[in-house]
Amino acid sequence: MTEKIVLVNEDGIRTDGRKLSELRPIKLEVGILSNADGSAYIEQGKNKILAAVYGPREVHPRHMALPDRALLRCRYHMAPFSVEERKSPAPSRREVELSKVIREAFEPAIFLEKFPRTSIDLFIEVLQADGGTRCAGVTVASLALADAGIPMKDLIVACAAGKAGGHLVLDLNDIEDKEGEADIPVAYMPSFNAVSLLQMDGLLTIEEFQQAINLALEGCKQIYALQKEALKAKYQAIKESTEVTEEE
Ligand code: ADP
Repeated sequence: MTEKIVLVNEDGIRTDGRKLSELRPIKLEVGILSNADGSAYIEQGKNKILAAVYGPREVHPRHMALPDRALLRCRYHMAPFSVEERKSPAPSRREVELSKVIREAFEPAIFLEKFPRTSIDLFIEVLQADGGTRCAGVTVASLALADAGIPMKDLIVACAAGKAGGHLVLDLNDIEDKEGEADIPVAYMPSFNAVSLLQMDGLLTIEEFQQAINLALEGCKQIYALQKEALKAKYQAIKESTEVTEEE
């Protein structure tokens, strides 16, 4: 018989040393690819994800162009080396589904009507996965869209909460996702206090469900502050480099 993994110990500490409502360490960087119109990189715990944006640009194939707004396309993809056992590079059903839900999470935020007959292409490339990649993917994609200068009503930020080892926990890692009781990824638009993605698997009481949503939103608010800092850091760096050039 396989032994059950202890996801939360007697002191309320998780397998990676976190408290129940603690996020994984997050590192964000904006504008790291020179060939894309916008790009960003996130590390959230062991997750490592790149996002790149092209557009608004001419739509190919042209018949897909929409007369009244931009066509938003999204590809969420996990690299073959992103998980322990090599993953096929061909898009799986899971990746097709995630590409769709991520695109739908962004549609309410982007002023698509400002760019009729064009496309905005969003690529999310998971280089290393450790649970919660759809959320980290949304968080980093938001920065890449902002970096591309795509006008948005607000940044979208995402975070999951759920239940593992009998406790409600924030920002589940891979083992908590697989061995835990429930997982609820949420994408949030803070300025509008609106949710644009909500999924759940597992089992929770209605009370636990409501608490988990609130926990996920608290996580989103913390990550939103980091997103804004990352954008400011990029523009501060540009400002400093132009000041140096002007002085020369
Ligand atoms: P999310 O990454 O958004 O939590 P899932 O709940 O579907 O999405 O996946 C949870 C985790 O399972 C992923 O982050 C990844 O670590 C792992 N995983 C997903 N697909 C595979 C795969 N094909 N092979 C091995 N591990 C995978």
